[in-house]
Amino acid sequence: MEHILKTYNKILVSIKKNYKVCTFRDYLLQNHSSCFILRHDVERSALKALDMAKIESSLGIRATYYFRRDTLAFNPKIMSVIQSMGHEIGYHYNCLDRTNGNYHKAWEIFKSELSDFKNNGFNVQTVCSHGQPRIIKKGYKTNADLLRVQNYKELGILGEAYLDVDFSLVQYVSDTGFRWNHYPSSEHLISAINKKEYPIFYLLTHPDYWFRSGILAFLAITASKQQHVRHILRKMARF
Ligand SMILES: [Zn+2]
Repeated sequence: MEHILKTYNKILVSIKKNYKVCTFRDYLLQNHSSCFILRHDVERSALKALDMAKIESSLGIRATYYFRRDTLAFNPKIMSVIQSMGHEIGYHYNCLDRTNGNYHKAWEIFKSELSDFKNNGFNVQTVCSHGQPRIIKKGYKTNADLLRVQNYKELGILGEAYLDVDFSLVQYVSDTGFRWNHYPSSEHLISAINKKEYPIFYLLTHPDYWFRSGILAFLAITASKQQHVRHILRKMARF
């Protein structure tokens, strides 16, 4: 069954058996010829992030968790627990989306929200832009464009999860939209990991998409598909 934590645990076991696992910060700081970068984008539920963090911690694995500041994901109490397990806490920003492409306002929000992380005890060293294809972009392509024109390293940031990666060197795997890119199922992903098909894997999972039980996963996937169909119908209605 896809999208249940038991499956995620199986993926982790195969990763641990075959690769040295690292956070995004570790990847930037150390010169790995082979490693497995584990990244999570936490959009809404800090508790679901905690579920994943506990599983990883029980296997002796550390990952990077990027938290949104503008949703309930930002829960300093839970984030502290996750940090205390050795995981990296980072900032998942979407400032250009929220300012309709106004770079000046977006940068002010970025700095202010980054301070919120610091004021709550999270010394953020890496950040990651949020992708929201349903928002019409005016004057920018992705939220990461904000950091293309700002000297973010001045804020103590070592790197950005898209801008500071050479994607030709990594196998980037993501669960965006409740499905893996590159692989039809988790079993196929596990098989690629077991065969060490790539020297460096860069895996993104969204804790919001992973569930304790199969029935919850089924309901969430069904709801997401209906939402997707509604979005397409709305788009078609414009023409
Ligand atoms: Zn996101």
